Amino acid sequence: MKKNHPPFGLATRRSFFRQVSVGAAALSLTTRVRAQPSSAASAAAPRKLGIALVGLGGYATGQLAPALRLTQGVELRGVVTGSLEKGRKWAQDFGFSEKNIYSYDKMSRLADNPDIDLVYVVTPNALHPEHTIAAAWAGKHVISEKPMATTVADCNAMLAACRANKVKLSIGYRLQFEPHFNELKRLAREKDFGPFMKMSGGLSFKMTRPQWRAERKLAGGGPLMDLGIYALQAACMAADSTSSPQAGSGAPVAVTARELPKQRPEFFRDVEETIEWTMEFAGGARGEFSTSYNQGLDLFRAEAEKGWIEFAPAFQYGGLKVVTSKGPFTPAVPPSQQAGQIDDFARCIREGRESPVSGAMGRRDMVIIEAIYKSAAQGGKRIEINA
Ligand code: NAD
Repeated sequence: MKKNHPPFGLATRRSFFRQVSVGAAALSLTTRVRAQPSSAASAAAPRKLGIALVGLGGYATGQLAPALRLTQGVELRGVVTGSLEKGRKWAQDFGFSEKNIYSYDKMSRLADNPDIDLVYVVTPNALHPEHTIAAAWAGKHVISEKPMATTVADCNAMLAACRANKVKLSIGYRLQFEPHFNELKRLAREKDFGPFMKMSGGLSFKMTRPQWRAERKLAGGGPLMDLGIYALQAACMAADSTSSPQAGSGAPVAVTARELPKQRPEFFRDVEETIEWTMEFAGGARGEFSTSYNQGLDLFRAEAEKGWIEFAPAFQYGGLKVVTSKGPFTPAVPPSQQAGQIDDFARCIREGRESPVSGAMGRRDMVIIEAIYKSAAQGGKRIEINA
């Protein structure tokens, strides 16, 4: 079946796809390729899904590569990179063919590659839409790193591309699969302490070297996009008990925010350096958070009438310390948060169900982030959210 060109309007993306020669044959091939895993799922030992990493920077190298040596249902079979030399090294290390090394402008050719079932987009924030949409039009399922994009409009374009190509989209929210955070969600759901009514904390670090994270064009914003999103996610997990049942998503009903004066304006020219915000939830719960590139903070606390839970550190790749009003909470912790997150998405693909950390959740968080920036820009005005 002939597919229409992708429904988005950015000139750069249009020109990207002008070079693309994804014809009907390639797309129907892709559809067959995608059908394989689910038919194989009934067999005793289904083949592992093949994943390609898009972007081989710090997170891909330091966290995802080790995780992909532990995943049960997925193996690394390709990369998309600006450096052929780097790609060759990854091919050697992971034992995949050099034909599975792509440059960013040739991502459409993934459509012809049955080795690759899904891609993991690990490029700077503002590039997640372009790379996700390219992968979707090549017929591949996608994990996009957080934040999903830098605007709600781009989230919409990503969701539309994935819908049009019948591929699944998940966001790299590793902590949604972490045992301490599972306990937070359980407490929110089962209300051992009553509904959580007061949340607080944040994530911050002192940025000392220039990088894309301090550039609006690539990062979309400052620490809120990069670090604050963790506290925002945790608040939504804790608030599930207090939001209206049909919402079920833990989204706040309103936010207020205040950007603090910059200590290093030359370093943070067009993004915030520090921002504080409040989230109000439907049942009356409130969360007060902050995030900064100019100090250290790694804390989350949720309080209810009959008890509390505190994470410190809260958002690291491991070594989380959690105490509740009943004492330390020390569950068995798997060796890699990311391996659990990626394997869960593989199961979703095989079983034909949505990821619990779907594109819809990524978009919800972008709605909240846009509202926080809007409040800060309007001097702390209360902004209502209709997620
Ligand atoms: P990084 O700078 O180390 O790597 C980014 C990669 O993108 C590099 O390989 C770079 O070459 C490539 N790239 C492609 N086009 C580029 C362009 N036009 N400009 C700059 N780089 C370009 O960054 P990172 O720390 O690996 O972060 C990548 C993504 O992963 C970000 O979205 C970040 O939020 C996310 N991340 C998530 C976690 C997590 O815990 N879930 C942790 C770290 C980073």
